[in-house]
Amino acid sequence: TQQSFIPLSDGNTIPQIGLGVWQASQEQAANAVYVAIESGYRHIDTASVYKNEEGVGQGIKQAGISREELFVTTKIWNTDQGFDKATAALDASLERLQLSYVDLLLIHWPFPKMDLYLETWKALIAAQAQGKVRSIGVSNFNLEHLQRLIDETGVTPVLNQVELHPFWQQNALQQTHKTLGIETEAWSPLGQGKALNHPTLNAIAEKHGKSSAQVIIRWHVQQGRIVIPKSVTPSRIQENFNVFDFALDADDLVNIAAIDNGGRLGPDPLEFP
Ligand code: NAD
Repeated sequence: TQQSFIPLSDGNTIPQIGLGVWQASQEQAANAVYVAIESGYRHIDTASVYKNEEGVGQGIKQAGISREELFVTTKIWNTDQGFDKATAALDASLERLQLSYVDLLLIHWPFPKMDLYLETWKALIAAQAQGKVRSIGVSNFNLEHLQRLIDETGVTPVLNQVELHPFWQQNALQQTHKTLGIETEAWSPLGQGKALNHPTLNAIAEKHGKSSAQVIIRWHVQQGRIVIPKSVTPSRIQENFNVFDFALDADDLVNIAAIDNGGRLGPDPLEFP
């Protein structure tokens, strides 16, 4: 299977399509990860709050792939923010995953009301220096949060993982990322499945002989984003990775751009939690 990689500002690379495992049980995660690796995926996106890191670790072991070939992301949950707590949380994640390092560690939410994300970022920088994580980034940050990390530490997050799908396209934030040298990673890339029945996407899918899930994932890939669709169904896991044999044309891209309706599905990061 074909695949593509995105270079990160720290010199590492990330496989552009990863498997998301939010809301998968331990057992579902283990099976989904195994099927995904067998299908050609080399990138898995989990988090301590998903409560399935053990399952992810089991799936990786079962697939028997060499560690160097695989890219594993996990995240520091809100209640683990702060230097010491974040350091301990990473150690606990590594233990559950049965890994000696993760490829990418993210601060899951900025949680500005608590205002510990800068201290947490310093813990990520230290963990990277100790070899417990190869690359460090953030999730659900805005320009102000990103700029503060950069100004205070001189270390720029390699990427920002944010809600981004056809109903919530985040054009301004993507431009900000470009200016700062930060990659955009799309969470809920299919709009949690809600975008799959949109008539515009169905029409484009029919035109290319693909599914609407494949059209949306291709849209992310073609626009240079990292994308982490979730499924625990083997046929869908395979389908979602099979997007390298067609291309959307300029008309398709104009039509998808017109679907944006401000339809955010998750919380406003300034208000959460
Ligand atoms: P998604 O947009 O990936 O949609 C997943 C749902 O779409 C599935 O549950 C399934 O119902 C459906 N689906 C998937 N493939 C399909 C196919 N080929 N055909 C038909 N239906 C299909 O939603 P998501 O899980 O919210 O987001 C993906 C990943 O992003 C998560 O698993 C998680 O790893 C990450 N995420 C991160 C954050 C964050 O705050 N950083 C928040 C939400 C999600």
